[in-house]
Amino acid sequence: MPLAMVTGGSRGIGRSIAIRLAADGFDLIITYRSRVDDANEVAAEIRGKGREARIIELDVSAGSDAESKVAAVVDSAGCPDVLVNNAGMVRDTLFATMGRESWEKVLNTNLGSFYSVTRPVLRQMLRRRSGRIISIASTAGLRGNAGQVNYSASKAGLIGATKALALEVAARNILVNAVAPGFIETEMLAGVSQQNVEEKILPLIPLKRAGKPEEVAAVVAFLASDGAAYITGEVINVNGGLYT
Ligand code: NDP
Repeated sequence: MPLAMVTGGSRGIGRSIAIRLAADGFDLIITYRSRVDDANEVAAEIRGKGREARIIELDVSAGSDAESKVAAVVDSAGCPDVLVNNAGMVRDTLFATMGRESWEKVLNTNLGSFYSVTRPVLRQMLRRRSGRIISIASTAGLRGNAGQVNYSASKAGLIGATKALALEVAARNILVNAVAPGFIETEMLAGVSQQNVEEKILPLIPLKRAGKPEEVAAVVAFLASDGAAYITGEVINVNGGLYT
């Protein structure tokens, strides 16, 4: 069976991606940071679909420790056919008042993880001469969001890394793409007030609603499929028509 690895697969968009890839026939490795019960629930749902699921505790912001852990996981489980770099976080505040800790935490988690998680998987994909690497970026990385200078920088970096790596590894049949969601209903948005959503955010979205995690998962599933064999270095927006 093909194998996919999804970081931050315990909830939100990562959970939907893991479950969708299982429905499409993949066995899964899902990583989580802190919520083991949520990760176990996702694993149970995947096994219910007749696929294998392995859960791994992994802090993707942990630099070389994260890299060694991913290397050990792929050494024992085998090379994933698909890697989804999904784990991410926000720590929103205006740049003028942003502490260095908020800057570094968001950059390490959202962009540093691309280095730590992708490299050990890529080494195996290079040997096997095939693979798909899909990273979850954001509209914020394309147009910038006020109050999210750290987050926007991290996601813009992820897009640049995706495009550059796509060029480096195309000759080995490894495809590297990103998906840029807009405003998706998950816990990540828990800090945004209902009033803010209704008065400021929804009016900007032509489809006049937030997206669902499953709607992001469907695009990731396409990029992981045979149908996407001629797509690399691309960023696909899933944002209800929000201008980017
Ligand atoms: P959630 O906050 O709902 O879930 C975040 C996931 O990432 C959880 O599985 C969490 O693990 C994991 N995670 C967070 N930090 C770390 C870390 N340091 N190491 C390992 N895992 C970590 O977020 P979403 O599902 O909304 O977001 C998923 C991705 O989509 C992110 O990259 C986000 O930036 C991006 N995105 C989301 C948008 C939205 O509107 N929701 C819009 C655009 C992009 P645990 O459960 O164990 O804490």
